[in-house]
Amino acid sequence: MIPYKKKDIREIKGIGDKQALLFSKLKIFTLKDLLYHIPFRYLDTSSISSITEFKERGEGTFLAKIIDIKTTYFRKTITTVKVEDETDSLRLTFFNQGYLQKTLKKEDLYLFNAKITTKGNRKNIYNPKFEIFKYDPSEQLHIGKMIGVYPETKGLTSRTIRSRIKHLEKDITDILMDPLAKNDLEELAIIPLPEAIKKIHFPNSEDDITSARERLAFDEMLQIAIRIEQKLSERRKQKANPIHIESKYLNKYIKGLPFKLTGDQNLAIEEILADLSRDIPMNRLLNGDVGSGKTVVASIAILNSIKNGYSCILLAPTTVLAKQHYDTFKKLFQGERISIELCISSEKTISQANNKLIIGTHAVLEEKILPKDLNLVIIDEQHRFGVEQREYFKKDTITSPHYLTMTATPIPRTLTEIFFGSMDVSEIKEKPAERKVVKTFFTPLTKRNSCLEWTREKILESQKSEQAFIIYPLIEESELSSSKSILNEFEKLREIFKGLKIEYLHGRLKPELKDDILNKFRKKEIDVLVSTTVIEVGIDIPDATIMIIEDAERFGLAQLHQLRGRVGRSNKESFCFVIAGESVEKDSEAEKRLIYFSKNSSGFDVAEYDLKHRGPGEVYGTAQSGIPNFKVANLFDTKLLKKTRLFAKKLLKEDNDPKDILENLFR
Ligand code: ADP
Ligand code: MG
Repeated sequence: MIPYKKKDIREIKGIGDKQALLFSKLKIFTLKDLLYHIPFRYLDTSSISSITEFKERGEGTFLAKIIDIKTTYFRKTITTVKVEDETDSLRLTFFNQGYLQKTLKKEDLYLFNAKITTKGNRKNIYNPKFEIFKYDPSEQLHIGKMIGVYPETKGLTSRTIRSRIKHLEKDITDILMDPLAKNDLEELAIIPLPEAIKKIHFPNSEDDITSARERLAFDEMLQIAIRIEQKLSERRKQKANPIHIESKYLNKYIKGLPFKLTGDQNLAIEEILADLSRDIPMNRLLNGDVGSGKTVVASIAILNSIKNGYSCILLAPTTVLAKQHYDTFKKLFQGERISIELCISSEKTISQANNKLIIGTHAVLEEKILPKDLNLVIIDEQHRFGVEQREYFKKDTITSPHYLTMTATPIPRTLTEIFFGSMDVSEIKEKPAERKVVKTFFTPLTKRNSCLEWTREKILESQKSEQAFIIYPLIEESELSSSKSILNEFEKLREIFKGLKIEYLHGRLKPELKDDILNKFRKKEIDVLVSTTVIEVGIDIPDATIMIIEDAERFGLAQLHQLRGRVGRSNKESFCFVIAGESVEKDSEAEKRLIYFSKNSSGFDVAEYDLKHRGPGEVYGTAQSGIPNFKVANLFDTKLLKKTRLFAKKLLKEDNDPKDILENLFR
């Protein structure tokens, strides 16, 4: 037998195949789905005025009797309804709803919620909301009370959704079971789940909404908390080979570096080495700003592991980055006798040798034989590697290598707790001292041409020792947007940058061609590189000093910051221009974002700004990052996270695989 909650919504009176199809667009298939489709805001139409008051105010709710209904079918179907109360009368106009001629009843009392539209000195009321008056207010469904407004889809209004849910109201306690025990609820001071669902759909007061939301937010956060605690306890059960800290040797290496490490780098190194020396696997996130020097921190962890006789793997998200790391590490480890192997799809061989560093892409994951002495895996530019891939490196069910993950984009502290709650975090906020801030300019469209002209002159003035990037959101023009694209603009740019060598690069080019173009750019055979965001992550070209981003409003600030991080990588003064596209209006939110970006150089700050204004999905890309998609809970509510983590610990003590609970929590 199908459990009640999993029953098809077509069991509900009024929902047939046609409407079920509409519901499916909202991802609603079962009774439970429908109950979990909750309002995103409320409309309070409980204050009822007289027609006279309504006319004065121009909008609101009034109670009136229908005294006449007429429908005309000239071009449009227009139904005119005359209503009155003891104070005045009104005419209401409905378009294309001829059926109202039959459904509305003369002499009956209705509640209306409407707005007066003024055109010249004519006042009209079009398509008002209405519901027959029920005498008992608790029977009223759409008007005369607090009502929820739902995420809708074409052909499915909040009114319909509300009516369908109303059919289930009496059965909510049968459909939904509260997975939490009564005494727990009391202790946590939250209301039972069925009650919360009832109140979230049909509240009688603000308090109802508040207590319902508290409970639902608890459920959403608890799911995250359980997962975090599960991972932590799993980790505690695993064993790792501790790696002794070779202080003397490391200090010598650090002294030999061409620069002095920053305070944050030193702290991160200490934390990492301490983790490595334990017999449980390290699981640490190195959360650092673009250009803050994460690679050299990683190099010390690697060096220490190799000195102890182990092997390490460094994973990069792209071939280009893997090769770049390969070159960097060859240089860094010059003079240390360390064998380094590159493993990318075109050169995919890992030798039999032990005690070495493997640098590679996904291709490493396809290798059957990994070094038996593997003890450290470093994943660069997290967000591109799924977490599952880590499982791959486990040697047996117990022993695991140590893990270090490095972020591509700085993640604000408030988020790392939820995002990466089961990891320890080291932050690098400080930039190397001699690093100059990239001068960033918000550039309105009207100044675009002078910006490009200035760039050309700047490169010529430097006798082509400096280089520029120009970034576009699209490769080709799309019919759906007015955004500029590489292929459309390239010829014009070639005109503008006459006398300079200009090339373009995008993700659809063959890998060899991409590599070739990047290498030419690196060797300064190209002065201006036009590109999509394929160059976003990690690419290091020290002589590129100018970054121009077209239609910049189309990018998240964290992404813009990544792009900005591609310049300013030497001691030369660097510039970034964020050019607003056509759609950006003066004083708009979009313009404000770009101006904020131009004035703030910290990646942590700009990411946080976007998180608050646009949400995490926009900033980090929901699918890749595994950020929870909360309907109710606040992503920044670390207090709630603490509370749920405590509770999750208690739950897991009683039941280490609380499937039933996870399945039945609100989500
Ligand atoms: P990211 O954190 O973005 O991966 P990288 O590790 O690529 O940054 O470092 C960027 C550049 O800064 C590299 O060229 C690196 O050699 C240099 N660098 C790293 N640490 C320092 C430091 N403490 N002082 C000066 N330069 C440094
Ligand atoms: Mg890097």
